[in-house]
Amino acid sequence: MNNDVLVLAEVAGDSFIDPTFELLGRARELATAWGGRVLVLVLGPSPDPTALDADAVLTMAHPKLDAYTSEAHARAAYHVVAEIDPKLVLLANTTEGMDIGGALSLWCQRPLVAYAVDVRAEGDAIVATGQLFGGKLLAEVLLEGDRGICAVVGGSFPPARVPDRTPAIQAVPPPTSLDGVATIPLGTPPGEDEDIDITKASMLVAIGRGLKSPDNVAVARALADALGAPLSGTSQVCDLGWLPRTRHVGKSGVKVRPRAYLSFGISGAPEHLEGIRESELIIACNTDAAAPIFDAAQYGTTADAVELLKALTDRLRPD
Ligand SMILES: Cc1cc2nc3c(=O)[nH]c(=O)nc-3n(C[C@H](O)[C@H](O)[C@H](O)COP(=O)(O)OP(=O)(O)OC[C@H]3O[C@@H](n4cnc5c(N)ncnc54)[C@H](O)[C@@H]3O)c2cc1C
Repeated sequence: MNNDVLVLAEVAGDSFIDPTFELLGRARELATAWGGRVLVLVLGPSPDPTALDADAVLTMAHPKLDAYTSEAHARAAYHVVAEIDPKLVLLANTTEGMDIGGALSLWCQRPLVAYAVDVRAEGDAIVATGQLFGGKLLAEVLLEGDRGICAVVGGSFPPARVPDRTPAIQAVPPPTSLDGVATIPLGTPPGEDEDIDITKASMLVAIGRGLKSPDNVAVARALADALGAPLSGTSQVCDLGWLPRTRHVGKSGVKVRPRAYLSFGISGAPEHLEGIRESELIIACNTDAAAPIFDAAQYGTTADAVELLKALTDRLRPD
């Protein structure tokens, strides 16, 4: 029994994802309030752990952790959480975080608040605010018992400050259960592992199913190239294979904060809007004047998306 806060770090490519640093910032506040430590768990190959503002970084290496699989990573995380029994486990509400959070909740018999946008200490209690119905409702939850897990939506907290301490690095032996992991990752779809990070883009050209055909993605790409902006899209266009998964914006994708978000043929479902709320400027093109994207956009047009994409690209072409 202790008052530690354990952050499960997530790695993409050769660095930690932004939400890991955001969780660390809040973990420090919570651990201070409860008189515990901030611990970080890194499963598999780790970027520089000294970049993490924590009291200790626990690393675990095993061939089955080299590439992400639910089976191996959930087993490894469970092994550590069961052993250390921290008061609170914080994970990012990403595909991986949601995957592991559910398994930890079941196996450790701890309550899990997913889609959390706030986690705070009220005395000894853990209180979280979670999103319901795609963000239409916010539920404030007092976690039963004094042990819990929160999967936090990216962008909910400011990132941790640059560490002024060097965390103790501790290698944790992997559990023998990892040897029996049967899942064999076949690899990342071509091109996705080297793709750019759209969360860092200052402008995005975003496309939805209103483009109607994969052939029109090239029309959108021409404008994106002319503007020097990457292409991004809705879950639907990524499901259709028009764009790689790395370009998927929204609740189950990534949250973006560009200075300008130019959206073409996107309806503006709540799950998509959740990913673009922090954009400075949203300009929407949708033939349906009642489309919800217009409630989020500062400027809009009901022009045909493909026609507008072509016209804008022509205007940007040097004579
Ligand atoms: C649990 C859950 C998680 C989800 N997560 C995400 C997520 O992370 N990201 C996400 O994007 N979605 C997510 N979704 C799906 C979401 O609910 C919507 O289905 C999706 O965002 C719609 O994609 P779309 O706008 O491309 O397509 P549609 O909703 O089909 O919209 C297409 C739009 O194009 C317009 N249009 C048609 N023709 C033209 C034209 N010629 N010119 C201009 N406009 C035109 C139409 O009026 C329409 O508004 C999630 C759903 C669930 C249930």
